Amino acid sequence: MPTIDLHCHSTISDGVLSPGDLVARAAENGVEILALTDHDDCDGLIEARHAAESRNIAFVNGVEISVTWRGRTLHIVGLNIDPENADLKNGLNTLREGRIRRAKLIAEGLAKAGISGSFEGAYRFASNKNLIGRTHFARFLVEKGHAKDIPSVFRKFLTHGKPGHVAHQWAQLSEAVGWIRKSGGIAVIAHPGRYDLSTAALEALFEEFREARGEGLEVVTSSHTKEMAMRFCGFARRFDLFASLGSDFHSPDESRMDVGRLPPLPEGCRPIWEGLA
Ligand code: AMP
Ligand code: MN
Ligand code: MN
Ligand code: MN
Repeated sequence: MPTIDLHCHSTISDGVLSPGDLVARAAENGVEILALTDHDDCDGLIEARHAAESRNIAFVNGVEISVTWRGRTLHIVGLNIDPENADLKNGLNTLREGRIRRAKLIAEGLAKAGISGSFEGAYRFASNKNLIGRTHFARFLVEKGHAKDIPSVFRKFLTHGKPGHVAHQWAQLSEAVGWIRKSGGIAVIAHPGRYDLSTAALEALFEEFREARGEGLEVVTSSHTKEMAMRFCGFARRFDLFASLGSDFHSPDESRMDVGRLPPLPEGCRPIWEGLA
């Protein structure tokens, strides 16, 4: 099996390496097929592709789209997308505008808890001024000493019931899959083990995703244990979905798994990269 990573982030969203530096790190780790999948933005793809070509890495255009499904946030990865497609571009643009509105509300919530200046503070951490996310707030709050590390900031400030939590409406599932398909891509449900959904809800999600013509499920990712990977391999088979794998790498200091350093897919699921690169 070639060394593959189909989910990671650069400074275009909430990663800390530029697209070029991320590809250089992937090359050092022996990656042969790589997709860059920044949140709601495709602006890193040209730089990453260029860097990948000079290192003999097969590069796949990717994106990770924020979706609201049954009141929860889900992430849908698009692979082999055309970043110039108008439907995809407009959709992502709307999501990024929503992020700015949400960031102002997050800052209001934190101000009520006695933390001022967090919008500007978080924005300083956003290398791409078009894309602000909770990770930028988290890095600001750690810098200011409000929490010791990124996971504890999320627990203390940025998740449900906490001062910086904002309920937000992202794209609908069918919309996100539609943009990916219209741009020629393949839609993949990212890290399904992270959503805290019951088996019945997961089955409903996979059913609806298939109906929207989504085709893939992330089986191996840094947030899945081996047991979870086996379980989602089973779902991929049952729902006739391709199995994907990706580290979800963001930063050498913050991430559990380095880019390209993934365990193999369990036996018996259909690998998504056959025919991708
Ligand atoms: P956003 O799309 O702006 O809501 O931010 C989501 C991002 O925040 C995810 O892609 C992760 O990078 C990060 N994140 C979410 N939850 C956690 C957590 N519990 N610990 C660390 N990072 C998290
Ligand atoms: Mn992220
Ligand atoms: Mn995600
Ligand atoms: Mn991700």
